[in-house]
Amino acid sequence: MKLYCDPPRLEWRETGPVAPDFDDIYFSAEGGLDETRAVFLAGCGLPDRWQRQDNFVVGELGFGTGLNFLAAWQLWNETRPQNGWLHFISIEKFPLRVDDLRKALSAFPELAALSGQLIAQWPQPLKGAHRLRFDADRLTLTLFQDDIADALPQIEANVDAWFLDGFAPAHNGAMWSETVWPELARLSAPGARVATFTVAGAVRRGLSAAGFTVEKKPGFGKKRERLEAVFDGPSLKPTPSPYQRLLPASGTAVIRGGGIAGASLAHALRRRGREVVILDPNGLAGGASGAPSGLLTPRLENADRPHVRTTLAAFEYARRLYADLGVLEPEGALRLIENMKDRARYTAIAAAMGEGYEIRDEGLWMARAGRFDPAAIVRVLAGDTRVITDTARMLEASLVLDCRGSDAAFHELAQSAGRVFLMDGRPPRHPIVWGGYTSAAPDGRVLVGATHEKGAEAGDPELAARRLLAALERRAPEIAQTLDGTAQHWSGVRAATPDRLPVSGEIPGWEFGSHWLRWALDGELPETDVKASGPQNIVLSGLGSRGFAHAPLLAEALASDLCGEPSPLERAGREALHPARFAIRQLKRGQL
Ligand code: SAM
Repeated sequence: MKLYCDPPRLEWRETGPVAPDFDDIYFSAEGGLDETRAVFLAGCGLPDRWQRQDNFVVGELGFGTGLNFLAAWQLWNETRPQNGWLHFISIEKFPLRVDDLRKALSAFPELAALSGQLIAQWPQPLKGAHRLRFDADRLTLTLFQDDIADALPQIEANVDAWFLDGFAPAHNGAMWSETVWPELARLSAPGARVATFTVAGAVRRGLSAAGFTVEKKPGFGKKRERLEAVFDGPSLKPTPSPYQRLLPASGTAVIRGGGIAGASLAHALRRRGREVVILDPNGLAGGASGAPSGLLTPRLENADRPHVRTTLAAFEYARRLYADLGVLEPEGALRLIENMKDRARYTAIAAAMGEGYEIRDEGLWMARAGRFDPAAIVRVLAGDTRVITDTARMLEASLVLDCRGSDAAFHELAQSAGRVFLMDGRPPRHPIVWGGYTSAAPDGRVLVGATHEKGAEAGDPELAARRLLAALERRAPEIAQTLDGTAQHWSGVRAATPDRLPVSGEIPGWEFGSHWLRWALDGELPETDVKASGPQNIVLSGLGSRGFAHAPLLAEALASDLCGEPSPLERAGREALHPARFAIRQLKRGQL
């Protein structure tokens, strides 16, 4: 099944793009920006309403060219409160191709500086949720690329303002269907406002029935009327939400584990101005995240399943983050095809994933893959976060987050030891992957990896080197023959779950035995007791050999939960990665 969304069918008129399938325009080139300001921004009481709270959430139905988003961003830059953060969530079934986006937005030169930033981060048209961050302007965009009927139930957020901007209801019933209104009510914060250009009866009735008070207003330009509505129904959110555990605004979060999971979470929390320390007896990148070289590749699966969407989105998020930080060599990688079965499988995967995945004679070319220095990424993400290696010290924390690898306190985790080798020889032109892999490595050497051994023992290095070299000789003899057997080797222990997917979230019913941990720190934290008022059982682990691809987005999701922000993940995706999934599966099988 396809994992990507189709692009829209567009016709270009002088006034801008038109969707012939819906017999409607994206925006009117004449006064389109003014119309957006009048209908959506002023219609939702902006900018006044976002002065009053630290996190303000806009939800939009129909992202299209992003004109509404850019207009909101521009207004935000002019008026945002000092500590404010704007979260813009939008749904789009037919994401524009980047060239069409550029062409459409060229009609608005006054937005050029902002549209350039949007275009630079424009996600692949993969189905599912994609988070884009614009930290300098204290703004995030979370795009849900899917049909509205499938996307809305996947969203978790407290929306303060809704922009309803599907094509005209007469030509696009799906965007205005009866199933939409209860979802808007579910997602609305008390007092949430709705704005739209249509006054269609079905829209007014649907909103009213869902708890909104609806009012017609004079329309923009030649249009007679438009609509505003206010949510004054009861809050429909479960309290507390099954996921959101708020981190007190003051106080220090202790992250146990100085690998890619811990560093990603430190980075995500510090971006939000939170105070963090990392606790790890081996310091930063002292464990499995300290390999001499790493390969960032997507997890390959061709079914449109929640965990596949999430891991692909995580790969894209990590890729963008590392590229921004200048710590990725984006050189692609080749996954070898070794038999007919591989060929069929990778052909299907390339077709399902779309752009950036291509079958060549000898394998699946993954243009979006890249090479990196693992310890450098961990250090860049951790920045100047304080790292404490003396774990005998006790320290008082508002929250403890368990980002250790195979030592994390979660009973489903198993250990898998791995060894990699750095050899002298001629490196391949680009990384080559099969069960193992080879790539160029620092200092002109060749990386060959990796072994997988059950448990914490990586085994005899000579035997492992012989096995890996024999495997390489069968697949890439021209490289294997240049390698002189002498090698530096490195080993680490991965944390693996039974289904080989990460665990991220709160462990159900798991206790530390006391309400808070008493760790002592050498005086730099406030003298007063900071009680561990948050939960103690949040884990980000089980990353296997894909920590660098999956940790940044999962950390962003945990940080969003802890800070009361909209989630960057689809609900079904986070359920697929939630620690409770193993107990739930056992319950379903009648084993608990
Ligand atoms: N807000 C947009 C802007 O600023 O450019 C204009 C949105 S345009 C009027 C309507 C959008 O709704 C189109 O981009 C269209 O692809 C999208 N759309 C149409 N049907 C949809 C559906 N069933 N689910 C999700 N999006 C849909």
